[in-house]
Amino acid sequence: MAALFKARKALRLCIGGCRSLTQLAELPDTHQLLRQTCRDYADRELTPIAGKLDKDHVFPAKQIQELGQMGVMAMEVPEELGGAGMDYLAYSLAMEEISRGCASTGVVVSVNNSLYIGPILKFGSEQQKKDWITPFTTGEKVGCFALSEPGNGSDAGAASTTARQDGDEWVLNGTKAWITNSWDAAATVVFATTDKKLKHKGISAFLIPMPHPGLSLGKREDKLGIRASSTANIILEDCRVPLDNMLGPRGAGFKIAMQTLDSGRIGIAAQALGIAQASLDCAADYAQKRNAFGAPIGKLQAVQFKLADMALAVESARLLTWKAAILRDSHKPFIKEAAMAKLAASEAATFCAHQAIQILGGMGYVTDMPAERHYRDARITEIYEGTSEIQRLVIAGQVLKEYQL
Ligand SMILES: Cc1cc2nc3c(=O)[nH]c(=O)nc-3n(C[C@H](O)[C@H](O)[C@H](O)COP(=O)(O)OP(=O)(O)OC[C@H]3O[C@@H](n4cnc5c(N)ncnc54)[C@H](O)[C@@H]3O)c2cc1C
Repeated sequence: MAALFKARKALRLCIGGCRSLTQLAELPDTHQLLRQTCRDYADRELTPIAGKLDKDHVFPAKQIQELGQMGVMAMEVPEELGGAGMDYLAYSLAMEEISRGCASTGVVVSVNNSLYIGPILKFGSEQQKKDWITPFTTGEKVGCFALSEPGNGSDAGAASTTARQDGDEWVLNGTKAWITNSWDAAATVVFATTDKKLKHKGISAFLIPMPHPGLSLGKREDKLGIRASSTANIILEDCRVPLDNMLGPRGAGFKIAMQTLDSGRIGIAAQALGIAQASLDCAADYAQKRNAFGAPIGKLQAVQFKLADMALAVESARLLTWKAAILRDSHKPFIKEAAMAKLAASEAATFCAHQAIQILGGMGYVTDMPAERHYRDARITEIYEGTSEIQRLVIAGQVLKEYQL
């Protein structure tokens, strides 16, 4: 009897005091409203044009400006700097709904919020925040994040781009690869080594406006998916910036990059969730309209099982994504959960998009329906901001720490 009383008290304390449990069960009103607003916007402005943006490789400039006006381009930025002053759970909800409408628009939003603004908000000086964040909150300008290189992606610590001091300037040389938003960006965070001998501890972060002398762009990559977002090399040839353009302390670049990606993964998980949900929406709708053997295919158990597995994958990944966001918002450790969320959601996106095509049959294979685009868009979520193999390494590292003898 005493043990039961103790357990009940502990449970009550947990439910009363743990924001995460209540939030996972039901979103607070503010977040519900934000989610609905983004969903309505995506249904009205993104879903109808996503196929054309993809086909024509067109950057969604008008939509990004509208999202800027809604506060979605700078969700976590305090209002005094021009942002929406919301939390990461809100950002995740917005990312899911926007990506459900258009995954390309989703990645543009994600890179601006978490990869470009994120590190400046966390590591920038007050002046850098004013100069490099505020103009990027309205959707008029977007930023990018240049970490990967042609010779190293997963092994980011092996960066070979260099930065040397020359008087009151830094001079950067090297090539950054696969940079999202590069053709449309007005600034970039670039990682370069200031001391090669120190390996990853010699990497520093820099802020460079775009365009800028000494900085040029490679060809626009012709990608499988997210084709409305631009991706290209950023080439630095004696590219000079003032000493003040260093972000954070000298040698802190690798830490800045890794911490940025820890958070960024939650946004990519949400992007993947949006793609997975869009695949399920499309398949469930089609299954009720398409007849075979005298009845809607949705009456067939084989199709129902596919829909059930898709819904299960989406909902499980959504709970993991929200959990990672809530942990981050509560200033609790979230590295493992963010990696789990990205891994689960990206695999859910690929799985759901694959199943959606199967349910649509031939119609799944042509551009008249969005299923084939979801299939192409889903694939990148298993690659950027750390491949699935890297997520597993991150998760295993954290698990082993928890079990350390
Ligand atoms: C469309 C697109 C947009 C991108 N946007 C950006 C951006 O904005 N900014 C940016 O900096 N980068 C960006 N990237 C780069 C992206 O982050 C890298 O492609 C990714 O990190 C993988 O690096 P890689 O391509 O060099 O593959 P590699 O690192 O060469 O990996 C190749 C394979 O080996 C596996 N592998 C590597 N190391 C390990 C290991 N230790 N254990 C197990 N398996 C391993 C990988 O999982 C993968 O399967 C983008 C990439 C693409 C395709």
